[in-house]
Amino acid sequence: MPIRVLSEEVANQIAAGEVVERPVSVVKELVENALDAGAGVVSVAQVDGGKRLIRVADDGHGIPADEVDLAFARHSTSKLAALYDLNTLTTLGFRGEALAAIAAVSRVTLVTRALDEEAGTRLRLEGGLLVDREVIGAPQGTVVTVENLFYNVPARLKFLKTDATERRHVDDLVTRYAMAYPEVRFSLEQDGREVFRTTGSGDLRDVLTGAFGLDNADQMLPLSASPPLHPSRDDLPPVQVRGYVGVPGLHRANRNHITLFVNGRWVQDSRLTYAVIQAYQTLLPTGRFPIAIVMVSLPPDEVDVNVHPTKAEVRFRRHDAVFSAVQRAVRRALVDQSPVQAVTGNTLWGSPEWVARRERLSQVAGARMSQLDMPLPDAVAGRHPSQAGPGGEAGEQSARQLPMLRVVGQVGAMYIIAEGPEGLYLIDQHAAHERVLYEEFMAKRQTEPLAQELLEAATVELSPPEMALLEDNWDDLQGIGFAIEHFGGATFRLRAVPAILAGGDPGDALRGALNDIECGEMPGDTTAVARLIARVCKRAAIKGGQLLSYEEMQALVRQLEACESPRTCPHGRPTMLHLSGEQLAKEFGRL
Ligand code: ADP
Ligand code: MG
Repeated sequence: MPIRVLSEEVANQIAAGEVVERPVSVVKELVENALDAGAGVVSVAQVDGGKRLIRVADDGHGIPADEVDLAFARHSTSKLAALYDLNTLTTLGFRGEALAAIAAVSRVTLVTRALDEEAGTRLRLEGGLLVDREVIGAPQGTVVTVENLFYNVPARLKFLKTDATERRHVDDLVTRYAMAYPEVRFSLEQDGREVFRTTGSGDLRDVLTGAFGLDNADQMLPLSASPPLHPSRDDLPPVQVRGYVGVPGLHRANRNHITLFVNGRWVQDSRLTYAVIQAYQTLLPTGRFPIAIVMVSLPPDEVDVNVHPTKAEVRFRRHDAVFSAVQRAVRRALVDQSPVQAVTGNTLWGSPEWVARRERLSQVAGARMSQLDMPLPDAVAGRHPSQAGPGGEAGEQSARQLPMLRVVGQVGAMYIIAEGPEGLYLIDQHAAHERVLYEEFMAKRQTEPLAQELLEAATVELSPPEMALLEDNWDDLQGIGFAIEHFGGATFRLRAVPAILAGGDPGDALRGALNDIECGEMPGDTTAVARLIARVCKRAAIKGGQLLSYEEMQALVRQLEACESPRTCPHGRPTMLHLSGEQLAKEFGRL
């Protein structure tokens, strides 16, 4: 075929492919336009997963009658005049592509009336071509209706998933925008049924309740409105982090529940996602991920939003500063506010591992724990943070530390029963000791030698994969107290091991550590070290099945009280269960 210039129609369809992949991409662009127009109400409707109809209505500033036609031309925008403006951009859109792209692959009706104009305009386009234009009466704002998406590009239509999947994506998107814009009243209607609505009260917690349900929303901790990081240092950008993160007990199987907004724009950023995950280090079970909605604000010239066709990715000028601001904000919220794991239906006793564990416990202890299986109200869950506002001095103290506990006794050589001002605590002696050792180890790491010299150097033979791991993690291993020398071939000589592992077989200690590194799914040096240390502590901790004297239990509980994160072991399992006095009274029918 000779070289030809594509017709505008074909060119537009091809370009549309970048912006409009599926119904949710249409909804995203239209919602962003509504927000850019300063809308206080955004109503989204979807029929047949969006294949038949998508409608987004807003009460924003509308489009002036003499500009309406231009809105659908490619590269037409009211938001950007020169490339230079990208540095000061405060709108979500800027390329002027979306309406053109959407119109190219569907039948679009746009009704709009601008602020201060008497009459509105209605335009109808098919495959990007204007078929009708009318002056009509309309409320202020804009309604865009997109019908028969991809009717003229059947190849794309084939790639769409089931209506249910497309609905779920839209649901997800609208929910997330509602979280980022709590002052806007959002609603979502699917096949004529309203599935989601927010009040526009401006209170993010209201939105969370609508999105996650009351129980889960109650387990979300606010990221305190921190002052910008380093406000006075002009070598670092002022980064502000807001939002909510789930308590460690509220985890999920993948990272899709971590939502990031940067300057009001929903973005996918694997490194920032990782910053959130890392803040939960040692607080979540392996392979589980937190729920979080994190909103980062920073000056527009610190972010390049023009790196991705659908603007889903951004680039930061100083990524590390943003990363650490996010990580610190999340970590601070967790450390200050995590409540003690309470005995509730959905956080603890519901998960399979805990059902199994509870059964073991009830066998050992002969206790009829099944009676605790019913969900109990959150209000009695020993929730400290509500007593003082986040960040308040008193709040920080009481939230972080455990109350003074009095040891009552031991059950099944595994659990310590203790009493505190707020009721009964059942402490897993192994998990608790792991936590204590972990924090001791982390603290000492800065100052004291961690290594225990071996009286006699031990030799150990490693497999090729073990050798590769050893090579990659040489410094980390030395860092926690292993002194290793290559002896020749696959043989290594150990002169020292981490002090808390002294006493066991040195070779096993090294192999165990290598195994832990291999199982570690998260990259990054700190994590590797932290995992190693957690593992080392696991091995060193008192085991279940070990009888403890009253003094030993008392000492352990005292040490736990002093921990920074006393409520979970370094692997993220709870160290204790709490039954409040009120809960007990309820169980016994006294309330
Ligand atoms: P962009 O958002 O990148 O500017 P779009 O193709 O999405 O490009 O929209 C083109 C223009 O149409 C916008 O710049 C804006 O002026 C106008 N527009 C689109 N949607 C709306 C709306 N809901 N309310 C007011 N103006 C709108
Ligand atoms: Mg736009």
